[in-house]
Amino acid sequence: MTDYQHHWKDGMPVNLPLGKIVCVGRNYAEHARELNNPVPDEPLLFIKPATSAVHLTRPIALVTDKGSVHFETELAVLIGRPLTNASASEAEAAILGYGLALDLTYRDLQSELKKKGHPWERAKSFDGACPLSPFVPVDQLPRDHQTFTLDINHQRQQSGDTREMLNQIVPLIAHMSSHFTLLPGDVILTGTPSGVGPLQAGQTLSLELDQALFVETHVVNASDT
Ligand code: ZN
Repeated sequence: MTDYQHHWKDGMPVNLPLGKIVCVGRNYAEHARELNNPVPDEPLLFIKPATSAVHLTRPIALVTDKGSVHFETELAVLIGRPLTNASASEAEAAILGYGLALDLTYRDLQSELKKKGHPWERAKSFDGACPLSPFVPVDQLPRDHQTFTLDINHQRQQSGDTREMLNQIVPLIAHMSSHFTLLPGDVILTGTPSGVGPLQAGQTLSLELDQALFVETHVVNASDT
């Protein structure tokens, strides 16, 4: 069982429960291309359950019995108000903070599921599939756009810029709320830029968001924990 609880970057707990993590696939054209996926004409949505969340600041316990586990670095949005069929201004007002997440994916299993036209949950919703960073309050970040990076063993691996998203964050949240009610404490994952790849035990992952958040974590074999 996960003991995950939202935190602010100053270490204070966020007094909201995590209900669900609503994600969008293929939100950066270059990442869609690297996996030979067509760019969807509507946001491709899926949900990770609260039980998939773990603290990104702790070591990542790698399990590979179902094939390779890919990292996907994504900007995470913390929701602070209930949203159902929200307008853009309601969606914007509901954003409490931003953080970073890894949308961990059993890539081989996902490819099999995609081939069969089956849902992706077994590849993306397992326990530990969503390491989440502490959150930065929205007023401490640039208003117009966000940038983030992932370095592995101190080499740049992924760079994201929200201006390159196919669906921008505010309309994306409004769209999600037309399909699922979002509740305070829910998290939105906004898609990964190109550069995804397999986690390996021994890797050091360094993530940065807009010079406001720095997180370093390590990958370890689950059997060693
Ligand atoms: Zn993803």
